[in-house]
Amino acid sequence: MLRIGVLALQGAFAEHETMLDRIGVEHFQIRQKSDLDVPMDGLIVPGGESTAIGKLMNDLDMTESLRERIMDGLLVFGTCAGMILLAKEVENDSRRFLQVMDIGVKRNAYGRQLGSFFTHDDFAGKRIPMTFIRAPYIERAGEGVEVLSVVDGHIVAARERNMLVTSFHPELTDDTSVHSYFIEQMVRKA
Ligand code: GLN
Repeated sequence: MLRIGVLALQGAFAEHETMLDRIGVEHFQIRQKSDLDVPMDGLIVPGGESTAIGKLMNDLDMTESLRERIMDGLLVFGTCAGMILLAKEVENDSRRFLQVMDIGVKRNAYGRQLGSFFTHDDFAGKRIPMTFIRAPYIERAGEGVEVLSVVDGHIVAARERNMLVTSFHPELTDDTSVHSYFIEQMVRKA
């Protein structure tokens, strides 16, 4: 039986738990460093405010352990702020967080006020609904990064080895495709 840890420090973690329930995958919340000792087959880093989540991760002394686990191959899926937390580079902010994925992202890339929108576009070849909320997008993708979605010329979903990121929030729609992709194409194949 698979078990996915959901980082539950701030932001939209409950919605990811609902998605995992819908596709029949067990999960538990990660709220403190000791929760990282619970055996897990994958990790979800939710959207929210990357600076708030990043600060809590540092204050709770979780950053280094998480970085090591991901570098060791822990399957991880980051949405929105989660993408920023995983990125090696943030083009328009001096703060850096886990720095594990070879991408450069731009925070609040669509502007602060008009930065939220809904669209349908392709993710890994399938058309799905996409909700963007003050989202980042990927400005630079390293050689080992597979692009999974491009919306209006900007990369908004990508994978590098054990790491999957989306600018949009699949957990805020009815469509379970991205969560299923993470579980079926990544976690179960690991
Ligand atoms: N704008 C947020 C940030 O920079 C991300 C927004 C989100 O996760 N919905 O962290």
